[in-house]
Amino acid sequence: MPEVGNLSNNQGESDGSPHNENQLAKLVAQHLLSLQAAGLTHLPKSSGGSTLHLRQLQSETQPEPTQSNIDSATNSIATDSVNKNYLPTTPAQTESQIHEPPRPDYNTTTTPNKPSPPSIQPSTNFSESNRVPPNQRQSALDVLQNEISQCTKCDDLSKLRTQTVFGVGSPNARLVFVGEAPGADEDRIGEPFVGEAGKLLDKILTACKLQRENIFILNTIKCRPPGNRNPSPTELSNCWGYAERQLEIIQPEFICCLGSVAARTLLKTTQSLGKLRKQFHSYRGSRVLVTYHPAYLLRTPSAKRHVWEDMKMLMKEMGVELSN
Ligand code: URA
Repeated sequence: MPEVGNLSNNQGESDGSPHNENQLAKLVAQHLLSLQAAGLTHLPKSSGGSTLHLRQLQSETQPEPTQSNIDSATNSIATDSVNKNYLPTTPAQTESQIHEPPRPDYNTTTTPNKPSPPSIQPSTNFSESNRVPPNQRQSALDVLQNEISQCTKCDDLSKLRTQTVFGVGSPNARLVFVGEAPGADEDRIGEPFVGEAGKLLDKILTACKLQRENIFILNTIKCRPPGNRNPSPTELSNCWGYAERQLEIIQPEFICCLGSVAARTLLKTTQSLGKLRKQFHSYRGSRVLVTYHPAYLLRTPSAKRHVWEDMKMLMKEMGVELSN
């Protein structure tokens, strides 16, 4: 006869037979749990072996908290405390109010657990009082360019770069194009969009009767990421403030975001480029249009017609007449 299983074995290994007390208790617990689920019994109050297993099994059957559940829980806690801190204090309730059912408060965000659809937060307009006069904008940009050229916030990018790529164009441009990041050619020459994608951008500009001298072109980050990878969130958070200062100096009427990195960074959204296109957004009072990045067009020429549609929409809004 085979030996009854080693009672001290708690390795959790099982061949399906009740080899020890623990397993026996676990089986009883499973049985109790199924009876309880069927409404035939209640959890016993004593804390004997099988009850312990029953409680363990019950907790095992509860869903594990996922990271997103944890995040949403901590978010709602954070939102709760923020809302509570800034809510006006409630005036003393009258007798009738005490007995009335509570009304939903549409000003607070504490109740719904539903994720809200991604939205674009409105930004405050460029400040009128700090507006740089048109004849001082070039020198303000020069000062900023000098500051950026010494930046070492991103240790690796600053070591790898040939130079920072500040941007080019008119300090009084009505329209600013925002690209992603310098590539190898831009890093070498020090100017945005001078490689293959830049040649295509020039064609788009020509078709729109625009010249580089009359617009401004800048990137979300000023140093080339190695291997032409996308800028990392840290690089964007280190560098985007420079682009914001450029835009604050220029205060353009229109901004055209080339690609999703530029669009998402400028509009502070996670929405897809497809969703962001074909409508004007607002950035600090500037009207913003989003379109595909020229490098994407090099890989996907069929998207060129979409860019042309976007450009026509932008030019019409700017009052520039184009032949179809
Ligand atoms: N792509 C960009 O986004 N910017 C450049 O300057 C060059 C290529």
